[in-house]
Amino acid sequence: MAKGTINVSVENIFPLIKKFLYSDHEIFLRELISNATDATLKLKHLTSVGDSKVEYGEPKIEVKIDKDAKKLHIIDQGLGMTEKEVKKYINEVAFSGAEEFLDKYKDAGKDTGIIGHFGLGFYSAFMVADKVEIITKSHIAKEPAVHWTCDGSPEFTIDKADKNERGTEIILNIAEDSTEFLEEQRIRELLTKYNKFMPVPIKFGTKEINDPEHTPKTSKDKDGKETTEPQKKITVDAIINNPNPAWTKQPKNLKDEDYKNFYIELYPMQFEEPLFNIHLNVDYPFNLTGILYFPKLTTNLDVQKDRIQLYQNQVFVTDNVEGIVPDFLQMLRGVIDSPDIPLNVSRSYLQADGAVKKISSYITKKVADKLQSLFKKDREEFEKKWNDIKIVIEYGMLSEEKFYEKAQKFALYPTVDDTYFTFDELIEKIKPVQTDKDKNIVVLYAGNKEEQHSYIQAAKEKGYEVLLLDSPIVSHLIQKIESGNMELSDSKQPIKFARVDSDHIDNLIKKDEEQISKLSDEEKEKLKEIVENIVPKDKYTVQLEALDSNANPFIITQPEFMRRMKEMQQTGGGGFMGMGGFPEMYNLVVNTNNDLMQKILKAKAKKEEYVNQALDLARLSQNLLQGEDLTSFIKRSFELMK
Ligand code: ADP
Ligand code: MG
Repeated sequence: MAKGTINVSVENIFPLIKKFLYSDHEIFLRELISNATDATLKLKHLTSVGDSKVEYGEPKIEVKIDKDAKKLHIIDQGLGMTEKEVKKYINEVAFSGAEEFLDKYKDAGKDTGIIGHFGLGFYSAFMVADKVEIITKSHIAKEPAVHWTCDGSPEFTIDKADKNERGTEIILNIAEDSTEFLEEQRIRELLTKYNKFMPVPIKFGTKEINDPEHTPKTSKDKDGKETTEPQKKITVDAIINNPNPAWTKQPKNLKDEDYKNFYIELYPMQFEEPLFNIHLNVDYPFNLTGILYFPKLTTNLDVQKDRIQLYQNQVFVTDNVEGIVPDFLQMLRGVIDSPDIPLNVSRSYLQADGAVKKISSYITKKVADKLQSLFKKDREEFEKKWNDIKIVIEYGMLSEEKFYEKAQKFALYPTVDDTYFTFDELIEKIKPVQTDKDKNIVVLYAGNKEEQHSYIQAAKEKGYEVLLLDSPIVSHLIQKIESGNMELSDSKQPIKFARVDSDHIDNLIKKDEEQISKLSDEEKEKLKEIVENIVPKDKYTVQLEALDSNANPFIITQPEFMRRMKEMQQTGGGGFMGMGGFPEMYNLVVNTNNDLMQKILKAKAKKEEYVNQALDLARLSQNLLQGEDLTSFIKRSFELMK
């Protein structure tokens, strides 16, 4: 037996490794399986170029738990190591790798900004083991097998071993504080998390399956009763991974079905089918493959648990792709695999990294191109999906200038009657009728078809189009369109958005013709005084208007500006912090041309009832009448019928 000391600058690196990476102990398994995979693929290469004489065969990696002996084995059939190689690669290379890693780790600080922890490699075994053994035999026939042991101190021993087949077995003598890694359940969980798509088959235990060679015979006894003999079972290796996941294949070799099946493989608990997918495949100027899926995103912007997964050469790294994938696309699902993403760095460094920036804009471009082609190929289908994908697209238009430009071609603006316009189509359609006297093109929209029904109706009676814009970030988007619309359409006319309930329709799109008031100035003053004395002052600003005599007597509106600011504040957005809450204020538009006004002016006893009744009706059509007020409205209505 030979003994030696690993050349250390830090007296004992292992306690440091343990301390620094406490929460990430589990990555040791990923590291060791990565090494086993590397060793196998290296041998594949050597045999293919004729530099190794061995038969490559169908090598696999085996993970085995020996609970009684408190050992975990990782066994590969890769190229193995000679004694010289063990000394070089394990004692020197692996060690310096670990040291370098620790240095970097300390530099980056202990913040959560580090992802992956790739590079620690072999020595991560000491996070969970108090003694590590390597039994290895090189693929070079004449080289004897070697047994290396190390208990975590810089001393190691090297001995002969009696292993006959090529490959390496790593034996971890699991430490007292890490016995969780002797549990089958825990190891299975880790294998599924990190190794599910690694390129070499990984065996973990065995399973019983029906013997494919055996078809059970059915025989009849003398009474004619049929009996079928039991199906023969055979025991086979349980392989936990799929070595050839869909994203590693060429798009032309994949059918729709394959993409759907891969989605289920990725997210076994997802029952909803994805809407469509985007296959990513670049090798210059960076290397990136992957498949992104658009899930149905009907409800909210909550962070979901099924997130995009980041891989490096089929090894799972993380499902936090912040900084790599633009924010708005983090709502998508799927896989990204790239060896070009630096992993031992903090997030802020990542965002400044040139390669990562290119990757991020490549992904944005691919997504935009895909949406554009779907729109072009089958517009009807695209319209059907619009409500499920609009959040991503609208969010993208808000946050990425490039995407905003591209989205002009496919972003849709649906009306309350389910007609879907592109922005240019919309402007062309409404320009002739919805241009006001100051040459503004006014885009009318509703946020809720039911709640704003009477306002929508009023607009439609004028022959106007009303959009249905109901996503939570729409006020931000409108703001952006309004401020940039000069370049947007060739019309050169300013474009303004107004929600249908933000004023009376005649005021939203002001035309030249003025309505003549039926009331004299004196009467108006009197009317205003009456109304103001009855309606709560802190809630309503009374505003007299000579509208069409058929228009409702009282109309409650909330000024566009106020409402939009309030919405933007709620959904968050720069510039609105610290402005405090906006008060709940409404305009009460009193239509002086409605016949009810004469009644109110002339009435003696019932003045208050008329005003309150008209106010409540206006509140009803804004969905603002509830509770006690609703009860007294109903009561008053019955009284008035008497
Ligand atoms: P890295 O994998 O980044 O090179 P590691 O610390 O994980 O660093 O491993 C150090 C070296 O030890 C590897 O480069 C390889 O040469 C050798 N090695 C580790 N595990 C194996 C194995 N299972 N079979 C053959 N060689 C191995
Ligand atoms: Mg390694």
